[in-house]
Amino acid sequence: MASLKRTADSTLAKKVNTMLVLDAVRKYSPLSRADVAKLTKLSPSTVSAIVSELVSAGLVTEAKGAPTGVAGRRPILLSLNAGASLAAIIDVQVTRILYGVIDLAGNPVSIMKEEADLSSPANTVDQILKAAARALSRLPRASAGAAAGIGVAVPGMVDTRTGVILRSTRLRWVNLALAQRLEREFGLPVLVERDVRAAAWGERCYGHARNVADFVYVTVGEGGFGAGLVMNGKPYVGARMHAGELGHMTVDMRGQRCSCGNIGCLAEVASSAIREWKAGGAGDALVEYTATGLVSLINLLDPELAVLGGDIGSLPEFAARVEAVARERALLAPGQMPRVVSSQLGDMGVALGLAGLVFDKFYWGEALAHDLPAVAERATVSYRS
Ligand SMILES: [Zn+2]
Repeated sequence: MASLKRTADSTLAKKVNTMLVLDAVRKYSPLSRADVAKLTKLSPSTVSAIVSELVSAGLVTEAKGAPTGVAGRRPILLSLNAGASLAAIIDVQVTRILYGVIDLAGNPVSIMKEEADLSSPANTVDQILKAAARALSRLPRASAGAAAGIGVAVPGMVDTRTGVILRSTRLRWVNLALAQRLEREFGLPVLVERDVRAAAWGERCYGHARNVADFVYVTVGEGGFGAGLVMNGKPYVGARMHAGELGHMTVDMRGQRCSCGNIGCLAEVASSAIREWKAGGAGDALVEYTATGLVSLINLLDPELAVLGGDIGSLPEFAARVEAVARERALLAPGQMPRVVSSQLGDMGVALGLAGLVFDKFYWGEALAHDLPAVAERATVSYRS
């Protein structure tokens, strides 16, 4: 029994170490074996053995870097084999659809944007099906079988586990089994996610939060406010997948009734400030409302980082103004204010997050030929450089 247990322990340790090495290569390519050892805190010999396996499996590639030092030695640099898998993504926005193909390293292979008429639910489903067909037609011929799956993001409440859109006021949908519909049509695995949660995961995979386990992503735009939460390295979605309704946090108990039925919600109270911003106003009120929402998130969750996204939140000067107000108000010891930054991924944030989710859910576990719950295990592993 004891030796069985030892074998089980060493198999598990190897899986975790392999995920650590892959995660470092995925996030920081190109890098040397020594860099991987430093990042993961694994021994150089363990890193070497794992890297050899990943190279023979075709997941990691080697290339000579620029000469260093007097002897002119060129270090061997490791990169993820970007073409090993591809994800088709569809980002359903309010008046348009962004769709295309993204490779394993997060490079857009082909991205298209189209104005879309999303005024009726049937029309919207139709346009999503067309966008998916067009995205899949852009897969490189040589890798026709390499699509890991399809990811779709929508504004509204989504049950990601089942791929059902529970409610989207903007798209006028209630209980729509979108993933099932697309799976039937294209014969590929499909995941459906709420737009703001996908954008948060994009920052975790490819943006500012690559090495951050606890952060909040706050979107501020014409559509109002939303939050994507990542806690302990995993998306925090809540018991019913409704977490992150920042726009419906009460900020005025005597305020106007909101469309959700509550009174004085941030989205309702700040709607005139958003209109004022759009009309070219100074934006002081909107900065203050955004900071009010952010301070509540900081006080409640104690994140290491806050990323602002959306068409207004992505502006660096807006993020800087919000940070200045939040710093005055958050309940923190001196010098402990979390960093507040604007999104690095801009308009591609949701698409990149979808790609990351598709690979996490449909690719990595199988690629490693283990029954590894890839997302959960890789996501819990966190290291600092
Ligand atoms: Zn509300």
